[in-house]
Amino acid sequence: MRILLANDDGYLAPGLQALHAGLSRIAEVTVVAPEQNASAASNALTLNRPLSVFTAANGFRFVNGTPSDCVHIALTGLLDFRPDLVVSGVNNGANLGDDTIYSGTVAAATEGFLFGLPSLAVSLVNKGWEHLDCAVDVAVAVARDLLRAPAPALLYNLNVPNVPRAELRGVQVVRLGKRHPSQPVIVQRDPRGEPIYWIGGAGNALDDQPGTDFHAIAQGYAALTPLQLDLTHHQMLDACRTRFADLGAAGSAQS
Ligand code: MN
Repeated sequence: MRILLANDDGYLAPGLQALHAGLSRIAEVTVVAPEQNASAASNALTLNRPLSVFTAANGFRFVNGTPSDCVHIALTGLLDFRPDLVVSGVNNGANLGDDTIYSGTVAAATEGFLFGLPSLAVSLVNKGWEHLDCAVDVAVAVARDLLRAPAPALLYNLNVPNVPRAELRGVQVVRLGKRHPSQPVIVQRDPRGEPIYWIGGAGNALDDQPGTDFHAIAQGYAALTPLQLDLTHHQMLDACRTRFADLGAAGSAQS
């Protein structure tokens, strides 16, 4: 079995190195990761310049691009095999609820999913890698299961609380919760007096009801969520067809 491993924190990140070591116990692992930290890169692909692939002393490949670039290049020309599983992480910090929209960690896994492969994004909820070994253990257990029964090829988001392995209460399969809007932008002045803007931190949990990833983490469980990519608001389709019915008739558009 072969695993393609990526991340968004860059090829030097402790989370990547630890997960590589863990996954190597169950499969042959190939790393293709960003050269630099690309957290919050979402699903961006680099289309305005060529990309280069380098090989580190430990064999990890790294790309001067985004997380999605890494997996995209790996699957469309760099690798001479099709992996059985794509894994991304372990990320330095949570990817809960709305975080998944912005996350480069989730995006790297999403790229694998878009190519029809089972894919898993892994995040350690607190920054700082304190209990990284626990996140790796859970990720390896989930990956082993996905390798055993890969069909259907789904996209999974796994968050692990920052607790010692012995204190982890288990894994719950849950839906995504939601966050409050992010904190306000912070305005400063650059050395020439021009205003500069720092995007504010993520909001706290808004929907953290039982059954959400936020709730599972708060209770000491790892949170595993199957994700889908269809952004269509299916319940509103009929109402929108009614509302915009006039626009559907040829020649009816009013200026
Ligand atoms: Mn990150």
